Amino acid sequence: MNILLFGPPGAGKGTQSALLVERKRMKHISTGDLFRAAIKNQTRLGLEARKYMDKGQLVPDSITIGMVEEVFMTLNGQSFILDGFPRNVAQGEALENLLKGHDLTIDKALFLEVPIDQLMGRLTGRRVCTACGATYHVTASPPKKEGVCDKCGGSVIQRADDKEDVIRTRLMAYEESTKPLKDYYKSANKLVVINGLGATEEVYGQIEKQLL
Ligand code: AMP
Repeated sequence: MNILLFGPPGAGKGTQSALLVERKRMKHISTGDLFRAAIKNQTRLGLEARKYMDKGQLVPDSITIGMVEEVFMTLNGQSFILDGFPRNVAQGEALENLLKGHDLTIDKALFLEVPIDQLMGRLTGRRVCTACGATYHVTASPPKKEGVCDKCGGSVIQRADDKEDVIRTRLMAYEESTKPLKDYYKSANKLVVINGLGATEEVYGQIEKQLL
């Protein structure tokens, strides 16, 4: 089964995807992670994407869609989770075409619902490992040793776009561009709303039920 996970920034898409990868051996396709890797490797795509990401804006569709198609070509039948793509209805439509072209389908679109007033605290407190991508939170789930990843010993930092002013722009982009995807997937009879509040394992339990 292939799924997509969407919702506002800070809803827990990355955390839940990591569990699905570990426990269900699904492939995680995160456009945010792909862009961050490209920035780290200083590729042309990374340099271009950075201009938008640093400001909290969406990277243009032409860049993003091509990048996802490259990953589709490497799947070899593995089930996947799309995380952070599509981010607007135009990308949703482009995804339909990509799926058709590669003989793939998305079975469910899981919307992780978290009230907007919870997101700022989640995002400003979020810390990530630069080596393995594990996520922490300064108060809710800090690493055992400050600044050091429990899983791999890498350094744990704040993402450049998890600063308050950039978060505001990201939340606006979500409201304007990504939220309309709820209706898009409802019309396609693929929408499942997951309550994103509560403990990580509780949220995971709701997602796991959808995979049966
Ligand atoms: P994320 O890690 O999903 O929060 O994404 C971080 C940033 O990457 C976003 O704020 C956007 O600038 C960019 N980004 C990620 N996915 C997309 C997408 N599907 N379309 C456009 N921009 C994206």
